[in-house]
Amino acid sequence: MDTVTQQRVKARAGIFGHPAIDCDVHPAVPSVKTLMPYFDEYWREQFIARGIDRLNFVMTSQPPNAPITSRPDWRLPAGAKPGSDPAILGKHVLDAFGSSYAICNTIHGSLALHSDDMAAVFARAINDWLAKEWLDRDPRLRASIVIPLENPEFAVEEIERRAGDKRFVSVLMLVMGEQPLGRRTHWPIYKAAEKYGLPIVVHAGSTYRHAPTSIGWPSYFLEDYVNQSGAFESQLLSLVAEGVFSKFPGIKFVFAESGFCWLPAFMWRANKTWRGVRMEVPWVKQYPAEIIRAHVRFTIQPIDAPPEPGDLERIVEQIGSDDVLMFSTDYPHWQFDGTDALPKALTGSLARKVLWDNALATYSRLEVNA
Ligand code: ZN
Repeated sequence: MDTVTQQRVKARAGIFGHPAIDCDVHPAVPSVKTLMPYFDEYWREQFIARGIDRLNFVMTSQPPNAPITSRPDWRLPAGAKPGSDPAILGKHVLDAFGSSYAICNTIHGSLALHSDDMAAVFARAINDWLAKEWLDRDPRLRASIVIPLENPEFAVEEIERRAGDKRFVSVLMLVMGEQPLGRRTHWPIYKAAEKYGLPIVVHAGSTYRHAPTSIGWPSYFLEDYVNQSGAFESQLLSLVAEGVFSKFPGIKFVFAESGFCWLPAFMWRANKTWRGVRMEVPWVKQYPAEIIRAHVRFTIQPIDAPPEPGDLERIVEQIGSDDVLMFSTDYPHWQFDGTDALPKALTGSLARKVLWDNALATYSRLEVNA
């Protein structure tokens, strides 16, 4: 690091004594009305005639008034959706934690639409709204490109349309969609992402094409949320087994809000089984754990590690790499550990890697001097 960069980095050091890159914050689209200026005339007319402009498209897994949707001190006045004000997000997250960047992952109900056309129109409008209302207002903000999840052709069009704007640093997908993420249907998306240096962020959440468990529909949020890590395991195995990383050696995946304490046991099972049946998947030429360590990253909040001293260090040791964890707050949700967002067990060079280096190495469009 040269002297100028060192000085910049020092100046930015926040509550952790080291600058940070927050890899998962959630701006909320206030309502469909907010997006109306970003639709063309045809769709504006459609949405008014069909009453869609009066909907708010909240994902059912994060209802605005539910306690878990926002920390109490991060709620906005007058019933505004938590996370819907860029100035307040700047104050609560970037200033408070001393983060140099925060990456906006916009989880919006339109991701679950069955109409490919309408999903594409919403994705386009949300990306344009993000650029104008968020990225233009705070130079520390970056964003994942929202895509229509079930139509790769339209998804690639949206990636191509936005790729010229370097403030878009990744592509956003949900962990539970129509098909496993390794399937070839999704490969055009990965091809475009690799071409433009955009990691794929796979965030917790479902389009509810299927039950969020493999045994049928659960009754409670508790079940839905805890079961997300099972879906992440299935997706990770799908990506490895279908050969995504052989086909696209330059691609990176970021698992956001996935937890990571399940990873050591998962890697062990995947390695062991692969050794026995690898003739079935000849394109998987390395142990699954080696492929995962090379290509997949995990945001740390909400953390699923036990609080006892030593446990987290052991898990990192079992993962076998200090490159895979990345700092996040998951703002404004309430599951994360507030100002203790960086676990005390992470110190020294590991803390620096989690706060800064690992994100810089993953998001190739982030520039330290930007
Ligand atoms: Zn999140």
